[in-house]
Amino acid sequence: TLFFGVLLRQVNETNDLLLQSNNALESLAQNLESEIQKKTAELQKANEMLMQLAITDPLTHIYNRRYLEENATREIAHAARYRTPLSLILFDIDFFKVINDTYGHQSGDNVLICITQSVKTRIRKDDIFARIGGEEFVLLLPSISVEQAVILAEEIKESIASLVIPSINGSVSCTVSLGVSEFQPQFKSFSEFLNDADQKLYRAKESGRNTVIWE
Ligand code: GH3
Ligand code: MG
Ligand code: MG
Repeated sequence: TLFFGVLLRQVNETNDLLLQSNNALESLAQNLESEIQKKTAELQKANEMLMQLAITDPLTHIYNRRYLEENATREIAHAARYRTPLSLILFDIDFFKVINDTYGHQSGDNVLICITQSVKTRIRKDDIFARIGGEEFVLLLPSISVEQAVILAEEIKESIASLVIPSINGSVSCTVSLGVSEFQPQFKSFSEFLNDADQKLYRAKESGRNTVIWE
């Protein structure tokens, strides 16, 4: 009896110990699980930030050329398939070098930011607004005909010309020249589409700047 009593106690004690370590293991597993969840969320957030950085212009925080090019192909395919118009406005600041030379590079940067903000208030959610060069911007406008795009381009031209941008060296005013193009089936790529707008922009510069050219 004594032997069995001792044995029983030992079995119970061992059982208790097992239960205890089982509980400890379970809570350890739970902690680990929540730690993994936390780290995964952190990693996901860092990943999203990196992806955002890769498609954003660091100065103006609008899209960069890379994002535009990657998405333009999709917009072109959509426009061709559903036979909807797709327009593009390419614009470039007039005599920006003079602005830099007169007011300083920092003020030039601020001009870029102010122009971007002004244009941003005029566009829709589906429009792609990108800075593709130093002082060169593109607006890609799904479902917008060239006639509608010209109206928008004229509005942008006027609103930028009326900006008075404060700087440490006095108020800055500037103008932009704009080329407007509607996608044509004969364009073989986005670069041909962009090139068509670029030729119009070039003519806008030649014709005295602060101008919209679309034909
Ligand atoms: P145009 O009317 O023919 O376009 O003349 P422009 O002076 O605007 O054109 P140009 O190509 O001669 O000069 C562009 C200038 O833009 C030169 C360059 O230093 C400046 N620039 C390019 N990127 C930046 C930038 O990020 N910040 C500033 N502040 N200036 C920039
Ligand atoms: Mg320029
Ligand atoms: Mg330029």
